Amino acid sequence: MAISLAITLQQIELLRSSLLEWGKIHFRSFPWRLTDNPYHILIAEILLHRTQVRQMIPVYENFLRCYPELSALANAGKEELQNSLYSLGLHWRIDLLHETAQILQHRFAGKIPRDKQSLLTLPGVSQYIAAAVRCFAWNEPEVLLDTNTVRITGRLLGWEVKDSSRRSARFRQALETLLDREHPRDFNYALLDLAHLFCLKRQPPLCGECPLKIWCNYPREGEKPDEHSQ
Ligand code: SF4
Repeated sequence: MAISLAITLQQIELLRSSLLEWGKIHFRSFPWRLTDNPYHILIAEILLHRTQVRQMIPVYENFLRCYPELSALANAGKEELQNSLYSLGLHWRIDLLHETAQILQHRFAGKIPRDKQSLLTLPGVSQYIAAAVRCFAWNEPEVLLDTNTVRITGRLLGWEVKDSSRRSARFRQALETLLDREHPRDFNYALLDLAHLFCLKRQPPLCGECPLKIWCNYPREGEKPDEHSQ
């Protein structure tokens, strides 16, 4: 559902194209971004949950070396899985990955389901992970709400950002309105990259170089102090 934002449709279209152009130049190349294999993307999103991206690269690569396909993961015994995943430091995700592989193999005929409701029945698959898999594997027009995307949205629209904003219908609707439905994968990658490279959480954002600065309501230097809670 779309909501009315304080910018025009024409401005939104310009904002999308500016973000997409910026995203092409600043694309952060991670192994799971160079594929549209839904199994690889699902594994990446599960492993990335609450984990630093840089730490995950070797873990992800080693994991896929051991289990390049869903059938390999599903056919691994639990003991084997415990041994290989424990050495990768994935202690709490062992049971979850084992159970997920069994469900996919037996209930979904060894395929990653494309529809959101089916994805949400898998253990450990949150709204965010289901949306990310659909968007990055199939280019489905999904919005991704996490601390990064709501930080940009809040700053852009001049809205206060709280911990609960990730679950806020208002933020979801705003992102639905801003989303480029013709290029959802590129739009979401660009938004995530902007949050990590320019619209920073712990340091002042680099607004001077930001592709969204002309539409952004975040107070500039010399204007009122930052009242946004992060
Ligand atoms: S102008 Fe600054 S605050 Fe606004 S989106 Fe860009 S980096 Fe973030």
